Amino acid sequence: MHYLVTGGAGYIGSHTARHLLRPPGSRVTVVDSLVRGHRQAAERLQAADPGRGTFVQLDLRERPALADLMARVRPDAVLHFAAFTLVGESVSNPAMYWSCGVGGTSSLLEAMRAAGVPRLVFSSTAATYGAPERMPISEDTPQRPVNPYGASKLACEEIIRGEVEAARRERRDFSATMLRYFNVAGGSDDGLRGEDHAPETHLVPSALQAARGMRPALQLFGTDYPTPDGTCIRDYVHVEDLAAAHVDALHALRPGSCEAFNVGIGRGFSVREVLAECERAAGRPIPVEVAPRRDGDPPMLLSDPARIMSVLGWAPRHRTLGPMAESAWRWMQANPRGYAG
Ligand code: UDP
Repeated sequence: MHYLVTGGAGYIGSHTARHLLRPPGSRVTVVDSLVRGHRQAAERLQAADPGRGTFVQLDLRERPALADLMARVRPDAVLHFAAFTLVGESVSNPAMYWSCGVGGTSSLLEAMRAAGVPRLVFSSTAATYGAPERMPISEDTPQRPVNPYGASKLACEEIIRGEVEAARRERRDFSATMLRYFNVAGGSDDGLRGEDHAPETHLVPSALQAARGMRPALQLFGTDYPTPDGTCIRDYVHVEDLAAAHVDALHALRPGSCEAFNVGIGRGFSVREVLAECERAAGRPIPVEVAPRRDGDPPMLLSDPARIMSVLGWAPRHRTLGPMAESAWRWMQANPRGYAG
């Protein structure tokens, strides 16, 4: 099988690309603009198995170049990760999020259609649900995004669903699965891949940076939420488990199917609980500075993962924070400057 992975030099894409290369004989072409992705992540993939991983630097909105590549590679399936992913940034620069999300995804779908590529797994997000009051969030929870990041991902889902319906009507073979991620943390089991964002805004790497003295303190955004310890509750999934979910989704795609699945573990942890686990992994205290609430942060986001477990048979290997914090710490200790180091 040959897979084309957009955004394969980024955090989740690079972990998934490595999983896709595990079966002997499989091949992966990574496409990444390197605006946020890392050349070294693609190089590590190529080094893992020379000859089976290829890297192409390309923005998906370069339509003719993408169409050429798709026609040349003619992959069996596409896994589409390429996107900007920061909520705050999407609020201050909505056009960039809509252009990259909707522009990139529609360009990709056109190229897939022209080349007759029949399978797509799309990287979606719990942010498409917005801030629902009822927890846990199932796939039937109404999708009412509250920021441009979530809204543009929801628009991509709608375009993809429309493409599947059009293909069904025209009796073309095309199917897609959307995976709606909750919070993601951790690094690869082999220590070669991990989170490397600039600037880093996510909780686990930010806390570990504070533990290493790379930032003065972890800013704790809000201690007055209506939760047991006053801090926000999120559902964290290990990046290796999330990567495995993509492989499961790929194998379950059937002609004409269009499915969406939440990916979370179905357990919530507060920011303070995450910090305690990060301190344990780092073996040292983390300086914390209590700060006001961050705009747009709902008190609690918790997935109901029943559907992905029953339909795809996916089950997370890690159901606690420990392995996420430990693998993230190992990655950071080995790569304090990220991939550039
Ligand atoms: N958070 C925090 N300090 C930080 C980063 C995050 O207190 O420096 C909190 C944030 O308010 C949220 C949780 O940690 O409640 C997870 O945030 P993250 O940015 O990792 O993911 P998000 O939930 O935004 O996808």
